[in-house]
Amino acid sequence: MALDPAAVAALRGEVAGTVTDDPAALERFSTDASRFVQPAAAAVAPRDRDDLVRLVVWARRFRVPLVGRGAGTSLDGESIPSPGAVVVDFSGWTAVHEVDTTNRLVRLGPGVVNRELHRRLVPQGLFFPPNPGSWSSSTIGGNVATNAAGPRAFKYGSTRSWVRGLEVVLGTGEVLRVGRRTRKASTGPDLVGLLVGSEGTLGLFSEVTLALAPLPERRVGLVVPVPDGLRFGPAVERLLAPPSPPDLAAVEYVDRRTAAALAREPGSRLAGDSPLLLVELECAADDEERHLERLQERFARAGFPGEVSVYPDADALWTLRGRGGEVLEGVRMREDVAVPWSRLDELFAGVEALARRFDVPVFLFGHLGDGNLHPNFVVDPPSEPARALRRELVLLAKRLGGTISAEHGIGLVKAPYLALEHGPEAVALLASIKRQCDPDGILNPGKLYPASATGPAGPAP
Ligand SMILES: Cc1cc2nc3c(=O)[nH]c(=O)nc-3n(C[C@H](O)[C@H](O)[C@H](O)COP(=O)(O)OP(=O)(O)OC[C@H]3O[C@@H](n4cnc5c(N)ncnc54)[C@H](O)[C@@H]3O)c2cc1C
Repeated sequence: MALDPAAVAALRGEVAGTVTDDPAALERFSTDASRFVQPAAAAVAPRDRDDLVRLVVWARRFRVPLVGRGAGTSLDGESIPSPGAVVVDFSGWTAVHEVDTTNRLVRLGPGVVNRELHRRLVPQGLFFPPNPGSWSSSTIGGNVATNAAGPRAFKYGSTRSWVRGLEVVLGTGEVLRVGRRTRKASTGPDLVGLLVGSEGTLGLFSEVTLALAPLPERRVGLVVPVPDGLRFGPAVERLLAPPSPPDLAAVEYVDRRTAAALAREPGSRLAGDSPLLLVELECAADDEERHLERLQERFARAGFPGEVSVYPDADALWTLRGRGGEVLEGVRMREDVAVPWSRLDELFAGVEALARRFDVPVFLFGHLGDGNLHPNFVVDPPSEPARALRRELVLLAKRLGGTISAEHGIGLVKAPYLALEHGPEAVALLASIKRQCDPDGILNPGKLYPASATGPAGPAP
């Protein structure tokens, strides 16, 4: 759907940043990692906050939908343009404005890539803990907008736990600054938390303030063979049982075929002949050996009798693990559900049963410590069989007392199931907040909320 020429002329006149409307140049904005496709009408890279405000005011006037975009690694179509939408490209907003080592804060632009931030902070002894598998490319703005997580969420929680402040341009064009620099506050409902995970539907972030953690003295990546027939729920419970559970930052699972594919990657030090746990231990430098001995015993008691081996570099292990979604063969629907530990074995069995029923292969890996699995079904995500399979999977997760999306977000593909997660009253409340922040429905329409809650985006007047 092309933009009205008068709207394009006004856009070029009013916004100082680069405007792209050449279809070939727009192609990369028409899809994300979900494999859904919808051409963008244009892309704009606003220069700064004031330019972003001018863009939103323009979009309101011409009723043009806007979709914020970091790196486009979303797996549920969060960054797919809706028909006629203009992409707001934040990839150039990479300034780190301030690193406050005393108060352990960083204030930065939303386009900074997660791993680049890590590289920048390590020499100062600090880090931003959430490390999604996409950390080599995904941006902090995208991480905040999807409440991204990753392996280390097991110890440190998801992105929401680390966002201290946001500067955000609402769908009205108003600029809102929410949050604080203190470690705690008791000042009413959490507006920062409300905006985290809002998938660009309430406002567009122009600046983010994150809390940082001190780097542990030693981070040790560990590889643990998983025996056949293991019951995962009791094993996780025993592994992490009090008193004094080990200080593990991540407990990841990869099935046999995923382990074999990761073992074939250049530079990989994994043996790919069994399913594996990939684990990160944190400890003091002079205490590593004692911890490793105790861990070996604990793993054996929990049902993992094989030898626990040290992976040479914990960061390299997570970069390799992040390739899990990329290195497997076939076009895959990369799912994301979580259940309480006590229901983990039912989730494993239910996923295998769904794969048999729909007659599609499945690869299984995920953040086991969080009860969060990423079943990768070999089926094209936009196809009808994928839609039917996705529906059965979210129903399975809910039946097991779990969540329909642990970290990837809702986007396009899970919007119809939001009420299954929260109930219709809570969805109606969310939709009323959306209308307050974005009265014309221009911010990322079609994502997050079911169409029944917000209605379709309004046509141009
Ligand atoms: C290989 C791979 C591995 C992955 N592993 C994980 C994982 O372990 N954990 C996990 O949580 N996710 C994972 N993901 C999903 C994805 O990487 C995350 O959701 C990530 O946070 C998206 O960041 P992005 O920069 O690509 O954002 P985009 O895809 O560009 O955008 C995501 C959402 O954020 C919005 N947005 C972007 N910038 C702004 C802004 N400035 N203001 C407001 N809204 C904005 C967009 O409109 C969209 O709704 C993985 C994806 C891939 C491809």
